[in-house]
Amino acid sequence: MLLVLLLEGLSVDVVIVGGGVSGLCAAQALLTEHRDAFTSLVVTEGRERVGGNITSRSDERGYVWEEGPNSFQPNVSMMKATVDTGLKEKLVLGDPTAPRFVLWDKKLRKTPSGPDVVTFDLLSIWGKIRAGLGALGIMNGKLPDYEESVEQFVKRNLGDEAFYRLIEPFCSGVYAGDPSKLSMKAAFGKVHVLEEKGGSIMGGSLKFMQEQRDNPPPPPDPRLPQPKGQTVGSYREGLQTLPNAIEAYVRGEQGDDAVRCDWKLTAISRDETTGKYNLSYDTPDGARTLVAKSVALTVPAYVAAPLIKSMAGDASDKLLDIYYPPVAAVTIAYPEEAVRDESMTGPGRTLEGFGQLHPRTQGVTTLGTIYSSALFPGRVPKGQVLILNYIGGCTNTGIVDQSEDEIVAQVDKDLRTMLLKPDAPAPIKVGLRIWPKAIPQFNVGHFDRVNAAKDGLKQAGCSGLFLGGNYVSGVALGKCVEYGYVNLAGEIAEHARSVKEEVKEMVEN
Ligand SMILES: Cc1cc2nc3c(=O)[nH]c(=O)nc-3n(C[C@H](O)[C@H](O)[C@H](O)COP(=O)(O)OP(=O)(O)OC[C@H]3O[C@@H](n4cnc5c(N)ncnc54)[C@H](O)[C@@H]3O)c2cc1C
Repeated sequence: MLLVLLLEGLSVDVVIVGGGVSGLCAAQALLTEHRDAFTSLVVTEGRERVGGNITSRSDERGYVWEEGPNSFQPNVSMMKATVDTGLKEKLVLGDPTAPRFVLWDKKLRKTPSGPDVVTFDLLSIWGKIRAGLGALGIMNGKLPDYEESVEQFVKRNLGDEAFYRLIEPFCSGVYAGDPSKLSMKAAFGKVHVLEEKGGSIMGGSLKFMQEQRDNPPPPPDPRLPQPKGQTVGSYREGLQTLPNAIEAYVRGEQGDDAVRCDWKLTAISRDETTGKYNLSYDTPDGARTLVAKSVALTVPAYVAAPLIKSMAGDASDKLLDIYYPPVAAVTIAYPEEAVRDESMTGPGRTLEGFGQLHPRTQGVTTLGTIYSSALFPGRVPKGQVLILNYIGGCTNTGIVDQSEDEIVAQVDKDLRTMLLKPDAPAPIKVGLRIWPKAIPQFNVGHFDRVNAAKDGLKQAGCSGLFLGGNYVSGVALGKCVEYGYVNLAGEIAEHARSVKEEVKEMVEN
């Protein structure tokens, strides 16, 4: 209570608005790596809990399920966050050899995962030859001088088949997006850059490997787990474990009031005399204010836009242009006997694989399905399978007007056409969540919009006010963690140090 009184309306060095994984990782990195730059730090979160999109649930029936993201790619930043928060023992990794499937022509077909690139049956022989020739730069046309959509880039480089059967469903899986609008550069930058680098996807890959040989990256940090192969990770009790652990860490370092849930930012203004920001909040105890030298907004773009409108109108307009389609996460369970025999190929005849994606051309509404109980242990009562389905997205925005029962019925109907036996019993509804504004679309012009918003803030004199969150970093959890840890924390620390230096000079003079 005393700390509340001390902080209320008084100057805090750093306020991070938004307790999703982006904001929390920035807070964690500031505390672990930039401790010299500031004295006080507060994270404010509008909901009653931290985690943002990350929403792990469990119940007395024995289910553990996710209502937001289901897993992460275990990149270096994810592993660092895991170890720094003491979660190494709770980390669970999927079997890297487990297959992934795409529905094509009423059959679930494995995606290529290495040596089977020649034999897999998702692409025809001509489709494979066309993709191969394009990747080698023999049949990939001329690099255009405009920003290509994912559809334009992939059709030009790899051909129509690779687009419709591999990449279009992948866009649904990652962005719930429309590949004719998504920007190749913004959404899949690592692949996009290869053609610029080496004239073709293969040429760029070879050049990249050569560069790595010439300039080997530093040896891996021995503290960090080194996941093998192409896999995904989570924690035993679900993804929420990470934000909860960072919250506890921040409170432990800065006091209980350093993380304030149910604190919804309603307005922000800059005091021209002091250069500090006045932050107004709605809280369960009424209106509250904080004054901060540095502020990071890690809220969604459509939340940040009205907050910065009066200070930087142009920047605000750019953020409003970023579209977030709705997505529903539908977790249902069935008895194991309900699954078709061809999908029960795991040890002891269990459901095997990461999950499946459904191209929009295949007459199925559900975007994709994760085999939650096959991926991670301990998520379902014995004898059942737990399946997480995503439905909605850019091509099915009407999902917000459907009832939960209608959505479950649609998913169940879709699954009976390929994964479940037609006479499977009705699903057990485990959890369903509709996200009306789910995932920011990295459409053509996305980087220009975000850079213009950042520049707009600078031009408006808003030094010390930073934009973060998934629309800046990339939507994958690993990208959010990396950006929060490295970029955002670095920017805030640099500003905080310069403010400290200015104050010191003023005192000395
Ligand atoms: C359905 C779904 C499935 C996904 N699946 C995956 C997946 O499997 N793997 C993967 O890597 N990624 C996945 N993603 C993407 C990933 O979950 C997000 O990109 C990531 O969680 C975003 O984190 P963030 O901190 O940037 O934003 P958020 O999680 O949105 O956090 C922003 C926070 O700001 C808070 N806030 C909003 N307004 C205010 C305010 N006025 N004042 C204070 N606080 C406020 C919000 O309550 C929220 O907690 C998925 C996303 C969704 C929606």
